[in-house]
Amino acid sequence: MAEIRIERVNKRFGDKVAVRDISITISDREFLVLLGPSGCGKTTLLRAIAGLGMADSGRITIGGQDVTYLPPGQRQISMVFQSYAIFPHMTVRENIGFGLQMNKVDKAETKRRVTSAAELLHIEDLLDRRPSAMSGGQRQRVAVARALAMKARVLLMDEPLSNLDALLRLEMRAELKRLLADVDATTVYVTHDQIEALSMGDRVAVMRDGEIQQCDAPNVVYESPSNRFVGSFIGNPPMNFLEGTIRRTGDGVVVAAAQHDFSPVPEVQPLIRALSGDRVTLGIRAENMETLPEPGPDTVAVRVEVIEPLGAQNLLTVYVGGHRLKVSTHPSVPVTIDQELHIRFPAAQIRWIDPATDKVLYTP
Ligand code: ATP
Repeated sequence: MAEIRIERVNKRFGDKVAVRDISITISDREFLVLLGPSGCGKTTLLRAIAGLGMADSGRITIGGQDVTYLPPGQRQISMVFQSYAIFPHMTVRENIGFGLQMNKVDKAETKRRVTSAAELLHIEDLLDRRPSAMSGGQRQRVAVARALAMKARVLLMDEPLSNLDALLRLEMRAELKRLLADVDATTVYVTHDQIEALSMGDRVAVMRDGEIQQCDAPNVVYESPSNRFVGSFIGNPPMNFLEGTIRRTGDGVVVAAAQHDFSPVPEVQPLIRALSGDRVTLGIRAENMETLPEPGPDTVAVRVEVIEPLGAQNLLTVYVGGHRLKVSTHPSVPVTIDQELHIRFPAAQIRWIDPATDKVLYTP
């Protein structure tokens, strides 16, 4: 069992708080992704788990053992870095076997593990080459093979694909996911690429300014963000936001935004009614609006400003009542610049956000 428990971990560099009071439990064999913009503290948290940078306070356990102050070598972890960190003067075979040799694993077992890791990564033909004569993708495979050969209980990966070109990155993403599903390790994977995070993680922890904003399964983080930041950071395009004015009626509320009156679903009515001010923010994803050629009940008229054909969909930028929205449509739907379109916002797809705290009021 290699459950990782992080309890109230803090880390500062001078005045800068890099990790603020983070608590999270990563289950045995789980694949957890730490996702967030540059400087949000992902690497600092990963290094605290690795023992490469001690936490200032808090506690970290791996498999029930308190490792907070243990050096990296005693934590039974292996790591893959963005820079690969492989030795140029050693062959691929020596690189993959390096950690095993340091851990005094016997020669026969080292040979067996090096061969098996090289086969998994499809680099068995490169075993006698030196990394200086290899492509970036091949070097990355060596770094992953070296980490897997250790058969560590925890695998820590810091942006392992970010030095690869786009196509190779896509290939390696799927390959790593397949490989890691068969490995017994608990994995923590750092990236700032939200597509990578959503496609690979069992859960995604979205970080900002040293704190975890939300940690959930990829579809939950996408569909039910806990706050405005998560809605805007996850998804391409980001979630649309409309500023609305609350009108309290006899038994509920109506929200005016983008020249339209919205009726929130019954579960949300009392939550909006309880807000102190008269403002509320609506969040809706590009693919969750219905576009209609003619006006209908509950539609909003918008003007098409930009059409971006993306193959499987057209991404429209439309203008309505001081707001610009991104709307996805199927390429078979005819659309022209400056055309008037009619958009329906399905009530169940709208996320309601308190502008004072940026928190989503209700998660279906
Ligand atoms: P990136 O995606 O750019 O690697 P990150 O989310 O991994 O970013 P960290 O590297 O953990 O972020 O850094 C968090 C904050 O701590 C940043 O403001 C960074 O400048 C600061 N920081 C990190 N390491 C150090 C250090 N050794 N000395 C001083 N400040 C540091």
